Amino acid sequence: LSETAQDTRRLLSQVVKEAESMVDAALPHLDPVDTEPTRAGHAPSMRSKFPQDIPSVPGPSGIVTDEIGIARSAFNGGPLGELVQWSDLVSTLHILGHHLHLSASITDLKIFLGGLKSGCPSMPTLEPNLIYTDILGLQQMQKALPNIWSKYQCKIRILDSFGTEPDFNHVSWAKGHNLSSPYGGLNLIPLQFYTMFPHTPDNTFLGFVVQPHWSDEENKKLESIKRKNQALVYGKRASFWKGKTAYLDTIHKYLDLHGTVDNGALIPSYVTNHGIVKGAEVHALLRESKVFVGLSFPFEGPAPLEALANGCVFLNPRLNPPQSRLNSEFFKEKPNIREVTSQHPYAEAIGEPYVWMVDMDNSTDVERAVKAIINQTIEPYIPYEFTCEGMLQRVNILIEKQDFCNSTTSWPPLSTLQVVTAEVGASCKDTCQKQGLICEPAFFPHLNSAQSLANYGINCQTTEHSGGYLVLPAYDNNSKHCVFQSDPLLFSCVRSHLSWTRVCPCRDYIKDQIALCKACL
Ligand code: UDP
Repeated sequence: LSETAQDTRRLLSQVVKEAESMVDAALPHLDPVDTEPTRAGHAPSMRSKFPQDIPSVPGPSGIVTDEIGIARSAFNGGPLGELVQWSDLVSTLHILGHHLHLSASITDLKIFLGGLKSGCPSMPTLEPNLIYTDILGLQQMQKALPNIWSKYQCKIRILDSFGTEPDFNHVSWAKGHNLSSPYGGLNLIPLQFYTMFPHTPDNTFLGFVVQPHWSDEENKKLESIKRKNQALVYGKRASFWKGKTAYLDTIHKYLDLHGTVDNGALIPSYVTNHGIVKGAEVHALLRESKVFVGLSFPFEGPAPLEALANGCVFLNPRLNPPQSRLNSEFFKEKPNIREVTSQHPYAEAIGEPYVWMVDMDNSTDVERAVKAIINQTIEPYIPYEFTCEGMLQRVNILIEKQDFCNSTTSWPPLSTLQVVTAEVGASCKDTCQKQGLICEPAFFPHLNSAQSLANYGINCQTTEHSGGYLVLPAYDNNSKHCVFQSDPLLFSCVRSHLSWTRVCPCRDYIKDQIALCKACL
């Protein structure tokens, strides 16, 4: 990345192309015309131009295995966000020069890690430095390799779009507090969960790449596209459109409506439906549209950021009341109680003029937003953390520095710790955020003694250790009684307590690269 910007971009587009063909080769079962059974490919190790040549081995990816089969629905409106993230991660690791092995079946998993003979004499059992999987992949691994999976526990990174909060992750806490979830109770360190967006500081933000790398020909075509009085509706499945006709009628008063929907017969007749199309076609449609219309579902996908990257505004429906596992069928089984305030909270934070919030059931509100949008133009916008360079920078540093196998290493650097006392009843997530900082759970152990709190001007009269709360370390303001955490898996940024003052480990972050502190580079 130290080359000139132009050289870097050329180099990146070359390696991305190389990585993409590698992904194609590795996941042949994603080809709709290919009916051959799954066969995971083996990525060639790359002659990297980058100095970091640490081998790493991503392991089983649950959702792409034939046993789970989600990848197969990619061609008829199934979830694609996770596949975007997987292919970006695979490409990133390849570009960074790591030795990369992909497993998309339980048999391959057993060959890679469990010593099963592959029929290929040159393929030894692997000793991975890192294993990337998802929750279903971990469950497959625990079942397929019951005697050895724990050996890899500290090397595992779980791709987990919506995040896993510490109380749901902690197996006995979850059981004892009625927080059961088919995806919880994994007892990993919460930072081992890698999310799609930076929504839960207890987890690590992995993200994905929005910036596409087209061929010269595709680029020329995209650049020649003129913006029209057109809206593209965000909804691959006709079921997402159900009950939204009045909302779409209002938008249709001002704009031609287009869609990429699996079943065009079930949507309003004035919509031009293109069916499920390839990524380049989605980008072309976004280039010629003024607004990308959210239907309030799916939540937190990549597509709204792709809209902004193509200079197309996102119309983001508010969720009123906010949705969470407490009131929503979709979030019911998710291992967190995060409240989702709109279809896309990350886009919500970007705000106008790129993202307009709308109450879908209020036609006056919808008209207000649409009229404002058609009278403005926006420049294409991608937050740095979703660019190619941003993803490479973040993943590279995470691989080099984040280490859950060695308890003597500490990252991020302790020099970035800023201790802030919360108001009674406030969480550390909100407390740090108010100061323009982010809660850094890796620092909790450094605040977990009376001695360390004294360094920050907090003098404990009496102390106690407890494994019964998620808000520790904390103290009672009147009695100066301090309570410390006895179970490190219960440190949590997101919880609060009505009578205790939390002591919060905050850190700074690089603008538009929230996963990294300023001194992390
Ligand atoms: N996409 C696509 N073809 C389509 C519609 C969407 O390739 O017809 C792509 C879109 O560009 C994005 C990805 O699918 O990169 C994921 O889209 P979405 O935000 O809908 O997330 P999901 O709900 O699928 O996880």
